[in-house]
Amino acid sequence: MDMDDVARRILRLPDPWIVEGATVIEDRKEVEVRVTFKATKAPCPECGAKCKKHDSVERRWRHLDMWDYQTWIVCRVPRSSCEKHGVKKIDVPWADGWARFTAQFECVVIDWLKVASMTSTARNLGLTWDQVNGIQERAVRRGLKRREALTPEHIGVDETSFQKRHEYVTIVTDLDEGKVLHVADGRGKQSLDSFFEALEPKHVSAIKVVAMDMHAPYIFSAAAYVPGLVDKLCFDRFHVAQLFSKAVDQTRRAEAKRRSSTS
Ligand SMILES: [Zn+2]
Repeated sequence: MDMDDVARRILRLPDPWIVEGATVIEDRKEVEVRVTFKATKAPCPECGAKCKKHDSVERRWRHLDMWDYQTWIVCRVPRSSCEKHGVKKIDVPWADGWARFTAQFECVVIDWLKVASMTSTARNLGLTWDQVNGIQERAVRRGLKRREALTPEHIGVDETSFQKRHEYVTIVTDLDEGKVLHVADGRGKQSLDSFFEALEPKHVSAIKVVAMDMHAPYIFSAAAYVPGLVDKLCFDRFHVAQLFSKAVDQTRRAEAKRRSSTS
């Protein structure tokens, strides 16, 4: 099996995308896989209509490394000429929109980010900090898009701080699914506002329970967005118990003071 076959077998592109061949470029330590679109008509990315090809533009995408060689997919991507939508770059099956990395490569970057910092992820994969940041932002946008379809009914709001640094983040979880829905900097009203603002109003109205500690900015935020919050608000047992024992303690002290002053 030669290099061209290896590339064909590994990439497994759907028709009419064809791997023409692969070349090892020794001095750059790169493998370049050339792909071509073998069809006379090009699908409009807006309506899917099979249109005339207008022209094509060469683009490159970084793909998964082969050993320590960076792999690049190179393709002249056609632009469709749709009667309704005009000239548009057609979608490629291996990458998102204008991304310069394949979807598989971006998955590897996201996996790295789960266990390493942005800087070490960039260093280990031969990327710049900005490129890693761009991949992360795209992943977040994809996640937010998926989240629009979510209709959480029981949510939990909590704050957490990074060790010793007193930098807080606000976390919203779906208590039924046990999933994190939202993470925002800080623990102010705005940190929780951004969660409600990202949901469609009908999904905010469908929330049945909001569980939280007694942090005032969260209460103000939820009150501003969730209709009928009074009946839906649930303070967690730990904070209620904490306040209760504080109140008992204060009463006990006041009683002791009063007794000592009257005796
Ligand atoms: Zn169209």
